[in-house]
Amino acid sequence: MDENDFDLAVVGGGLAGMVAGVRAAELGLRVAVLEKGSEPSYPCNSRWSGGIIHIAYTDPKEPEEALRRAVLYNTRGFTDPALEEVLVREAARAIDWLALQGGRFIRAGKASWQNWMMAPPRPLTAGLDWRGRGPDVLLRLLAERLRQKGGSLRLATRARSLVMKGGVCAGLEAEEGGASRRFEAHAVILADGGFQGDPELLRRHITPFPQMLKQRGAATGTGDGLSMAREAGAATSPLDCFYGHLLCRDAFSNDRVWPYPELDAIASAGIVVDRGGRRILDEGEGGIFMANGIARSPAPLEASVVFDAQIWDGPGRSARIPANPELARAAGTIHRALAIPELARLAGIDGEGLALTLALYNAACEKGDFAALAPSRSSERYWPMPIATPPFFAIPLCAGITYTMGGLKIDAAGRVLREDGQAIPGLYAAGSTTGGIDGGPYAGYVGGLAKAAVFGLRAAEDAASKIRGEKR
Ligand SMILES: Cc1cc2nc3c(=O)[nH]c(=O)nc-3n(C[C@H](O)[C@H](O)[C@H](O)COP(=O)(O)OP(=O)(O)OC[C@H]3O[C@@H](n4cnc5c(N)ncnc54)[C@H](O)[C@@H]3O)c2cc1C
Repeated sequence: MDENDFDLAVVGGGLAGMVAGVRAAELGLRVAVLEKGSEPSYPCNSRWSGGIIHIAYTDPKEPEEALRRAVLYNTRGFTDPALEEVLVREAARAIDWLALQGGRFIRAGKASWQNWMMAPPRPLTAGLDWRGRGPDVLLRLLAERLRQKGGSLRLATRARSLVMKGGVCAGLEAEEGGASRRFEAHAVILADGGFQGDPELLRRHITPFPQMLKQRGAATGTGDGLSMAREAGAATSPLDCFYGHLLCRDAFSNDRVWPYPELDAIASAGIVVDRGGRRILDEGEGGIFMANGIARSPAPLEASVVFDAQIWDGPGRSARIPANPELARAAGTIHRALAIPELARLAGIDGEGLALTLALYNAACEKGDFAALAPSRSSERYWPMPIATPPFFAIPLCAGITYTMGGLKIDAAGRVLREDGQAIPGLYAAGSTTGGIDGGPYAGYVGGLAKAAVFGLRAAEDAASKIRGEKR
């Protein structure tokens, strides 16, 4: 066997790729994980993540029926039922498998969706702090396990195209150390993390203004897997949606205000307005929906969240890493005034427009009837709070993009599908490269780490059973 011949080549060394690589090596395959990052702590969303494994904000070890309900509630039925089934059935096993590899978890808070946080936890402060935290530790551990089981992690190796022979995926071409290299493999798993880091793909699918999105993660997902697989005939789910959060607009110039605190809870209780003081979206659909809405709006860098003292001291303190007081500590912009005209002046918002919006909004809050508001304001998920108690606040917003939710269509075994619904033999995908699990019109989120770990395992196991079958 040539040194570049493998049973399985995995593209990407995030959680999806490392889980797939280790599991496949454990099952006896000769595995290479190709990772374009060159440092042992190469950046990826998995390493930078908060590290909580949950299914749609529910403990993955809850009964399957509870998980199904949570996925349905969050995605409103967008998730492909076959993929949902794998997710709810396999998430607890994925946690147990990670623990068997030596992964450590702690309970991160009172809410049960925080029961499985990779240890040690990140501090509860604003800013980016991943070094030595749970996800970083876990990825290093998986790299070590891969090595122990005979697999290899090839850093500074960027997959560029698939090798297709008679419609079957038989390996890939990659750039390694400046040279082009061919890796022969019985199967390939694409786990390169989405396309949020590619401005052109963002422009095509998400917003005409990709430069106005704040990258809220490592931005290493540049759509390579998507492009390679499409060339091989792969189908995709809708690509117009991303997982992200509302951030203080200073995130473009102040690294202390991202990826936390998120401003979702505040915006879901108050109003989001443009420079004219007009509401621009349904705040009641939550922060991920609003981040998508702002990204698609005609002026993504002109939205502000407006709220009052009650919201600041209530929902403002409710997040794990709360805007109150973390945003001020991180020197993020918070306009504050005792009266609305002064607030509008400070925030660069039209005072008359804002006063009119607030009059309508507060009247609706008083009646408990929001039907007359335009844009509509739903109240089932996040109850609108009146903005009437001084001091009043405004924070300039931007949409933070973490990963793209749309991607390659896969089946329950993680096999990449063509438009006709047939699997492309030898080609798998896992993690943020895949679609059909989260997203949809309401940007429903099911948990990126669970999706990565579950489908990493699934793809590795299916590939192993097929490859071992072929070898027999
Ligand atoms: C700040 C933050 C907080 C988060 N918190 C949570 C949380 O608490 N819970 C949760 O469930 N999710 C969370 N997420 C989301 C979660 O991190 C991701 O959904 C998940 O880690 C995706 O894993 P992945 O393996 O698919 O992608 P990634 O971790 O992004 O890995 C993809 C890898 O592929 C590599 N790559 C890309 N292209 C190529 C190529 N052509 N060749 C070779 N390598 C390539 C990249 O360099 C990268 O290392 C968070 C994300 C961020 C940024």
